Amino acid sequence: MYTVRIPKVIKFGENALGETEYPKNALVVTTASPNLSGKWLDKMGIQDYMLYDKVTPEPSIDDVTALISEFKSKNPSALIGLGGGSSMDVVKYASQDFGVEKILIPTTFGTGAEMTTYCVLKFDGKKKLLREDRFLADMAVVDSYFMDGTPQQVLNNSVCDACAQATEGYDSKLGNDLTRTLCKQAFEILYDAIMNDKPENYPYGSMLSGMGFGNCSTTLGHALSYVFSNEGVPHGYSLSSCTTVAHKHNKSIFYDRFKEAMAKLGFDKLELKADVSEAADVVMTDKGHLDPNPIPISKEDVMKCLEDIKTSNL
Ligand SMILES: [Zn+2]
Repeated sequence: MYTVRIPKVIKFGENALGETEYPKNALVVTTASPNLSGKWLDKMGIQDYMLYDKVTPEPSIDDVTALISEFKSKNPSALIGLGGGSSMDVVKYASQDFGVEKILIPTTFGTGAEMTTYCVLKFDGKKKLLREDRFLADMAVVDSYFMDGTPQQVLNNSVCDACAQATEGYDSKLGNDLTRTLCKQAFEILYDAIMNDKPENYPYGSMLSGMGFGNCSTTLGHALSYVFSNEGVPHGYSLSSCTTVAHKHNKSIFYDRFKEAMAKLGFDKLELKADVSEAADVVMTDKGHLDPNPIPISKEDVMKCLEDIKTSNL
């Protein structure tokens, strides 16, 4: 038996944001400034809402507690996470305490977080990746409207993450026919959008990617990427090389097209400061990504991948 979890209702495509009906007396949670959130709320056409815009980027459990203590007594009808991962994560965690449904509206794309049961929060100053069924959205609204004005580099990093998640998810041993269908279609949409300059399709592809990999896992590419994250390299950018080399190693069906898409996006070569052997030791501890890799991975394999990245032998 297989289980796949996705939000109950998904609104997407042109004008999804404005055409969706929002419940009255909902509590909108965001990190955005009043200027920006005001613009978004107008576009949504939402009325009779409460607003909490004090969520800090990379939020902690304290943000959740603060939200609950300020608004629980005001009995909001629903929680709406409007923003990037930070706003959505706080809403994912807090909604159970309010006993109301949650609506997630991503204003960035790439991670597919609006589709997944993942939640990242800091506890005692340390980021923790949590995964519980209760974190799933009751409704997600995905609209490319928010891409307007996003710097090209940020868009490139985000679409790279979505491509990596889709293709690594397709290859994951934790996948099934349905997740593979979602992951494959996600990559088809994203590949077409990259190669034929249709960035407005990135959020939809990213959403499909989230539905797919969020119900299985990512694999070797993501495992390799964290040693670069530790050196401050943006997640999406590191995957441009890490996932390419992982696909080569795994003989993935996506290798050629993934590489081609990355070349079109024009990513620079990736540098690694750490010693390759020491970095490989770190990668080898990442069982969560290595165990579901389609083929077993040894430390020698990881060292070879890291060397290939360093020498651009992708
Ligand atoms: Zn990722």
